[in-house]
Amino acid sequence: MAKRELPWRKNPTPYAVWVSEVMLQQTQVSVVIPYYKKWMLRFPSIKILAQASQDEVIKHWEGLGYYSRARNLHAGAQQIMQQYQGELPRNAHELLKIKGLGAYTVGAILNFAFHQRAAAVDGNVIRVLSRYFALEDDISKPSTLKNITHIAEKILPDKTPWIITEALIELGATVCKKSPLCRQCPVKKHCQGYLQGKAEQLPIKSKRIAIENLYRAVAVIKHEDSFLIQKGKKGRVMSDLHEFAYFELSDQKIEEREFQEKIYQTYQLHTTFSSWLPQEQHGFTRFRVTLLPALFHVQKKRLIQGFSWLTLQEMQNVAFSAGHRRVMNRISAENQCILTEMK
Ligand code: SF4
Repeated sequence: MAKRELPWRKNPTPYAVWVSEVMLQQTQVSVVIPYYKKWMLRFPSIKILAQASQDEVIKHWEGLGYYSRARNLHAGAQQIMQQYQGELPRNAHELLKIKGLGAYTVGAILNFAFHQRAAAVDGNVIRVLSRYFALEDDISKPSTLKNITHIAEKILPDKTPWIITEALIELGATVCKKSPLCRQCPVKKHCQGYLQGKAEQLPIKSKRIAIENLYRAVAVIKHEDSFLIQKGKKGRVMSDLHEFAYFELSDQKIEEREFQEKIYQTYQLHTTFSSWLPQEQHGFTRFRVTLLPALFHVQKKRLIQGFSWLTLQEMQNVAFSAGHRRVMNRISAENQCILTEMK
């Protein structure tokens, strides 16, 4: 079976496998590739990553989402420099002590980088093995995952085990997809899910995570050339990411006067409403967020704890959350048009 050419497969060092596997969690391969290339240019080694500032690490992750992954990579690199002489250890026991490393990533590092017989069970492998062996247990149960990991370990050969792991992942990613392409599958003659006509129904997953809608009124507050920007607090979902001030709404509407009142009561800023900006949507974890941005001007600015006044140029150099980045890009584009018209 043809396998995909992926940049991290060219030279699967332990560091390359670690970075790529962390990026691939919850993220599609096509999205990861440019991020991976840019990351490896700026942070080509564990040592260089460990020495970088957290702001720069987050900036290189901007747009990939699930930012705890970037923070853990950074903290993990520092831990490896301090405790493991700058090299990823070669056994599961020690690898699991490194910040952010879980069973799958550890299995991938041992398998792909150190060529050991260790199972790396991701969503692809779970899907393929559930169907191939017609397993009808609920994959949201830890006991089912344990059983599938056990099966994955058992089928690995002593010689070149990483080829089988890679083949399982490739099969899941390209043929045994959510809607399986059984007719073109190289293992269909032995696949119990296919032979029993159950492929489409497997794997069985009972727990579906409910998506919650959030509505936020985003206050783009401008004073001369600068805008009021906050940096997410440590420990919160958007920590280290920059955003405009915003207010949670119960539904998808807010009047201009009410919006201004909220700004005044929260920040003691007298604003003049300028215009509504196009709505933006973005998602994180289990939330779907609708942003309702509006532009306001202030005559006088004041220092507000947790906020800075940044110019568009300065905003380009810091990491923004995805939806607020789009709001900022729109303001930047409109500003550019005005400047061009004035020339
Ligand atoms: S035959 Fe179908 S269900 Fe079985 S492994 Fe192939 S694609 Fe998946």
